[in-house]
Amino acid sequence: MTGPDDPDWRWEFRCEDFVYARLAEQQTAAEALSPGPTRDQALTNVDTIYLIASQHNIWIDMRGRSAGRCITCAPGDGGVPCYTMRGLARLWSHHPDYRPGWNQHVEDPGSATHQEYKQRSTIYSRREAELNAFYDRFDLVQTDTGEHWRCKTCGACGEEQRPILASDYPFAITGAPREHPTCPERNET
Ligand SMILES: [Zn+2]
Ligand SMILES: [Zn+2]
Repeated sequence: MTGPDDPDWRWEFRCEDFVYARLAEQQTAAEALSPGPTRDQALTNVDTIYLIASQHNIWIDMRGRSAGRCITCAPGDGGVPCYTMRGLARLWSHHPDYRPGWNQHVEDPGSATHQEYKQRSTIYSRREAELNAFYDRFDLVQTDTGEHWRCKTCGACGEEQRPILASDYPFAITGAPREHPTCPERNET
């Protein structure tokens, strides 16, 4: 058990306190700007981060017990404070009060999180070409026992296959163009 003498005591609150302290500073700095679009945008930026942060506040009940109860994420996946609040703290990672430990999971080049975000692209953008190539020509038909491709033009169907559990990648995506490379009923010009 940790207690108030432990530097890590209630560290989850320190992280969000850090974020709120930095935001208060930014709010003051933004308000000091002369009126105009730059000031408006600066205020909106601060306000937006406040909005995100408020959806990831740590719950504390009146018995002093804290818990992760984010509006938009499952803190159980990443502990408390959630990755979102820790990520917000990273906006000020050069501040002396910042603790690198808050984002260890992000800084480690070997971690999946690190490799994912360094790609600088969305999952959709990485899958878009393959998705479109398939769904332009085929439907993926779901049945009680599996799934199969069906040509939108001639109605030809692939063999039914049982999807691999926990994989969101249907066999049909690669199977259909191989088994039905050209459609006899399609007027290719
Ligand atoms: Zn959260
Ligand atoms: Zn066809």
